Amino acid sequence: MLLTVPVALAAVGGTGTTAQSQVPRQSPVDVVRSAVDVDRTQPPLRVSYGRTAVELAYVRKDQDSPNGCRTRHHEETEEARVPAGTAHVTVAGVRYELEQFHFHTPSEHRFGGHSLPLEMHLVHRSAEGRLLVVGVPLRPGPRSTVDTVLARLSPECGDPVAVPSIDLASLLPANHSTIRYQGSLTTAPFTEGVQWFLMADRTVTRATIARFQTLFDHGNSRATQPLNGRLLTEVPQH
Ligand SMILES: [Zn+2]
Repeated sequence: MLLTVPVALAAVGGTGTTAQSQVPRQSPVDVVRSAVDVDRTQPPLRVSYGRTAVELAYVRKDQDSPNGCRTRHHEETEEARVPAGTAHVTVAGVRYELEQFHFHTPSEHRFGGHSLPLEMHLVHRSAEGRLLVVGVPLRPGPRSTVDTVLARLSPECGDPVAVPSIDLASLLPANHSTIRYQGSLTTAPFTEGVQWFLMADRTVTRATIARFQTLFDHGNSRATQPLNGRLLTEVPQH
């Protein structure tokens, strides 16, 4: 389903503001090789994730709809809420706390035009309110921690599901190389200024993919958005 960018971002010209400020910098995007530059001088991403139990909750976007409890709105998802102080990342001396992670089917980011069955977004926030999202595409394969998290899905209009203690670091690939770019939230209000850090893919079982896709049978991903000249920066782990 195509979504339009907010009117303020689409408005162009005649106001005296620079063209630069009018160019949408939205997410997700198609990661095309020709737009990727390798830069080993960017500050590393330091991951400090602990072990914790989490709560898996259904995120509703259709509270006002009479059929909302049975209808799958395309911006809804299953979200694992992480207790404060359990996990954070640090980039260039700024600490971003992990607040929650959630899932999309198919993957929102594309890679050379291809999507994967699932994508996990780990949402971090700094003390100043800046957002940093780590995206991990998920492909069918051996069982992983994601299978533990999505073993039982929370029903819309039902109670959250308690997930027993997991090692949050095991949600990520061992190699913390990232492809970074400036983008936006992929659900309303599509706020820009989000720092995206895409990692290599992890595996999840076909059974878990099928369970998630049965709940979101029309998908819960936003279409890819134009790069509009943005560069994607690949930063090898260092
Ligand atoms: Zn997301």
